Amino acid sequence: MGKRLIPHGQRPRPPGGKALAGGLLALCCLLAAVRLSAGPDLLFQTPPKAAGPDREHQVLPEGIFLGTFTVYAYCPCTLCCGQWSGGPTASGTMPEEGRTLAADWDVLPAGTEVYLAGIGWRTVEDTGSSITGDKMDLFMDGHEEALMFGVREVEVWK
Ligand SMILES: [Zn+2]
Repeated sequence: MGKRLIPHGQRPRPPGGKALAGGLLALCCLLAAVRLSAGPDLLFQTPPKAAGPDREHQVLPEGIFLGTFTVYAYCPCTLCCGQWSGGPTASGTMPEEGRTLAADWDVLPAGTEVYLAGIGWRTVEDTGSSITGDKMDLFMDGHEEALMFGVREVEVWK
C-alpha cells in the first residue's frame, strides 16, 4: 500500500535525494581527504620547529665566512702556557673563558671579534708561536676542560 501512496509526480524526488546524499558523501570524503592530507603536514611541521634553536645556534647572521679553522683549547696552567702561565694575554688583557681566543695575528689581528660555529663569539686577544695560519686556541678556565675540548675543525665568521 505504500507504493500506491507515492504519486508518480514525486518520482523525480528520490533521484534528487540520492544526488543530495551523494553530494554529502562526496563532501564527507573531501573532509576526510583534507584531514588525511593535514595529518602528514602537521607531522612535517614538527621537526623544523624542534630543529629551530640548533639552526639559530649554528648559522651566523651576517658576516664574512673566514673558513674552517683547527681549534685547540688551552688554560692558564704551566702545561698550556709555560712561562706565561697565569699572566695576561699577548694583547695585555687578562684571559677570560667565553671571550678570549688566541689566533695568528697576521690572519686575525688582536681585537678581532669572530664567531665560532657551535661555540660562539670570541675576541682575538692572544697568540702563540704554534698558533699560525688557520689554527686557533680557545681559552678555558680549566685544564681538564681544555683536554675535553680536544681539537676541532670549526667554521669561523667575522
Ligand atoms: Zn692547561
